[in-house]
Amino acid sequence: MAKIKKIAKNKQNIKVIVMGPPVSGKGTQARLLAETLDIPHVSVGQLLHEIARDKKHPLAEEVAKYVNAGKMIPDEDLVNSLIRQRVRQDDCQDGYILDGYPRSIGQAKFLAENLSFNYVYLINVSDEIIIERVVGRRVCPKGHSWHLKYLPTRRAGICDICGGKLFQRKDDTKKIVQDRLKIYHEEMDKIISFYRRQGLLVKINGDQHVEEVFRDTVKVVVDDLLKK
Ligand SMILES: [Zn+2]
Repeated sequence: MAKIKKIAKNKQNIKVIVMGPPVSGKGTQARLLAETLDIPHVSVGQLLHEIARDKKHPLAEEVAKYVNAGKMIPDEDLVNSLIRQRVRQDDCQDGYILDGYPRSIGQAKFLAENLSFNYVYLINVSDEIIIERVVGRRVCPKGHSWHLKYLPTRRAGICDICGGKLFQRKDDTKKIVQDRLKIYHEEMDKIISFYRRQGLLVKINGDQHVEEVFRDTVKVVVDDLLKK
């Protein structure tokens, strides 16, 4: 890993977008990739939360209205400029991993006009598997998360970590996931075609385990770096 960091540092400017459907594990992949390449992980969700809490930020109040209600900010220009500000900071000069953005074709075009990227990773997971992951999820009152099939507890219905009783979150139903997927596909399929036409799209099989997804993800960057 130290070697990868060194190679990456010498080449500089690795700018990556990581995309994927809900529960694809894209946030985890973005974080792992950022750690490996030693560049910042810019999670847009997290960035907006930080701004909302930052009393000195001139837009804190405006951003907090939406973030605290769990809503998307309707003003695309506002989000665009916040992200542009973030990636122009010093720590992003050697590159960065952008996660949770773009969410619309308008945002994708804005990015294309203002910033350049080396890769757009799509952590690809089939709708069937997403539904299975969500519907089989069980949590305890302390928030430890399990899965009936993929991560079962030793005793059915009891959390291995704290002994709490497991339950299913009320949003973890087939209907709600299907609705979320429908919204995701409406916008993301257009964004995916946009990046495919630009030759930036790298599809990763996200049906695998976290470690295997990461191995495939990092391999693309490392192979390219070694070629240079
Ligand atoms: Zn627990």
